[in-house]
Amino acid sequence: MSETSPSYKRILLKLSGEALMGGDAYGINRQTIWAIVAEIKGVVDLGVQVGVVIGGGNIFRGVAPAARGMDRAQADYMGMLATVMNGLALHDAMRAAGMVSRVQSALNIEQVVEPYIRAKAIRYLEQGRTVIFSGGTGNPFFTTDTAAALRGAEIGAEIVLKATKVDGIYSADPNKDPQATRYDRISFDDAIAQNLAVMDATAFALCRDQKLPINVFSIFKQGALKRVAMGEKEGTLVYC
Ligand code: UDP
Repeated sequence: MSETSPSYKRILLKLSGEALMGGDAYGINRQTIWAIVAEIKGVVDLGVQVGVVIGGGNIFRGVAPAARGMDRAQADYMGMLATVMNGLALHDAMRAAGMVSRVQSALNIEQVVEPYIRAKAIRYLEQGRTVIFSGGTGNPFFTTDTAAALRGAEIGAEIVLKATKVDGIYSADPNKDPQATRYDRISFDDAIAQNLAVMDATAFALCRDQKLPINVFSIFKQGALKRVAMGEKEGTLVYC
């Protein structure tokens, strides 16, 4: 590939619900979602096929007091429904930006979104459409990080890009420890040995078993997603 070609043909982007809040306490901030969509469009315009797994923390956090004391599985279904709402908002913002996207859901809500069908998702990606995977894994007791690892493996993504508010993985919490340093690259084994929280344990194990690298980067750093897609050093790469 030439220096101006992207490093990946197909990527899986994990976008947390909280990334959509911007500076708000909960919900979806319009300016923020537009800015994120512009970053994603920049990568799609390079010819990279993009699947997005969307989280639900921004909405679910808003209902968390009501969910406290609730049956865990019931609360988790609420969380999964929150990801469908975010998926629809992302889809709408992508449409407004001139992108063609599709939303699929691991939970069947057919009047609202199409169900997750792997072969269909892959066909959309091949057609250059962005696929938003909502509803998490469709199972309680999991997270959308695990959904990202799962969908990433299923669609044959070459890498999982974990978009966060922080610009990578640090040796300690940079907000608490001024000595904390950021890793440019770290192996799965070293990340485990150092007990670094990259993704939740289930997601991390799945990526490691499937030899699916993870790049953690900040979605709020302009151009960072594009740099990751171009194979440039950005955030932290967890490699096999
Ligand atoms: N969730 C679930 N199963 C899944 C994915 C998500 O039960 O496969 C629920 C879980 O309650 C979780 C919530 O949905 O807390 C929102 O997902 P997540 O916390 O991963 O969102 P994020 O933190 O990325 O915004």
